[in-house]
Amino acid sequence: MWNRRKSVEVDIGGVRVGGTNPVVVQSMTNTDTADVGATVAQVKALADAGSEMVRVTVNNEAAALAVPEIVERLADMGCASPIIGDFHYNGHLLLTKHPQTAQALAKYRINPGNVGTKHRDANFQDIIQVAVDNDRPVRIGVNWGSLDQRLLTELMDANAKAEQPKDAAQVLRDALIESAMRSAALAEETGLDHDKIVLSAKVSGVSELIMVYRQLATLSDYPLHLGLTEAGMGAKGIVATTAGLGPLLTEGIGDTIRVSLTPEPGGDRTEEVRIAQQILQSLGIRSFEPQVTACPGCGRTTSTFFQEMAQDIQGHIRERIAFWKTEYPGVEELEVAVMGCVVNGPGESKRANIGISLPGTFEEPKAPVYVDGEHYTTLKGDGLVEEFKAILDEYIENRYGGGTSAEGVST
Ligand code: SF4
Repeated sequence: MWNRRKSVEVDIGGVRVGGTNPVVVQSMTNTDTADVGATVAQVKALADAGSEMVRVTVNNEAAALAVPEIVERLADMGCASPIIGDFHYNGHLLLTKHPQTAQALAKYRINPGNVGTKHRDANFQDIIQVAVDNDRPVRIGVNWGSLDQRLLTELMDANAKAEQPKDAAQVLRDALIESAMRSAALAEETGLDHDKIVLSAKVSGVSELIMVYRQLATLSDYPLHLGLTEAGMGAKGIVATTAGLGPLLTEGIGDTIRVSLTPEPGGDRTEEVRIAQQILQSLGIRSFEPQVTACPGCGRTTSTFFQEMAQDIQGHIRERIAFWKTEYPGVEELEVAVMGCVVNGPGESKRANIGISLPGTFEEPKAPVYVDGEHYTTLKGDGLVEEFKAILDEYIENRYGGGTSAEGVST
């Protein structure tokens, strides 16, 4: 059974993070926040893709001034995802100068390494005071690319004098964690409630991420925002993120996740949301859409027919999922199998709610269909794909639509 780390619950604009709440998927825009139209459009797209919270950078006066209008326009569009402001260097100035911006945002992200050097604590406390005054939570998000250098030097010096010095990588990890914990303590001393704080300590190395979060998880009951920072592009970014988040989530560490992918030029920003969902669904932590189990194919399937069929069914699910979710609650837990031959086809198809075992190259040209573990029918001929989709639709209607049969398709 999944053993979730215990944490307090933080309310972020109506989305509850931590406690026994589902692990929340979040994302971040890459538009210029001052461009209200572009930012609204991207937040809406991210939210429609399933991002339950969306972060926008608030990096200058123009961005701060744009935030209230962005939030208002999204509300008018019926977009419920809370908007989080990401602050570095000048957050204390922007939030105190623009009370409407402070009020419009559902949470403030503060990086303790980027709040100044000379007046670091005072600047940090200014932001916390705004959070207290507006009853807003904060994420104290440290990042090893912008670690508080004063603290790192302090720990390095202490380590050098220790009888058994740690290696430099361990001191760096300690400094990240210490930065988050000291900042959380300072936030509470300033007056912010314990259940208004989320922590993160992001690094870009997979092994380091796992070590940092395992350590951080033992030190408090603040909810943890989990993510591999600067994961990179394409397959590298997806694999590295999954490799880092998978073990931690399996151990119950992580209350909200973000996948920090670099999109291809002109690429779709919502990909990071779909990958975050897929990580959670693959681990059996949450369900977002029906899953298609398809075999990889081998020398027994020399044609591409079954690959095309798996793709066709996946596309059918994507097209219909919004409607199905409205009409058929629970459909996101459906498992469909599309298999390439008799070796694993019938077995895998029986394990799914509904599955089809296509004929391999030298097998008889027919495809048995299994429903809830039982052989339901055998399909043949050119209309096989459409017939299977019709069986799938009927199964969903009957099983999740309060139809007459919860067992499967009507006969
Ligand atoms: S199920 Fe058949 S076609 Fe698919 S990978 Fe296994 S042996 Fe190959």
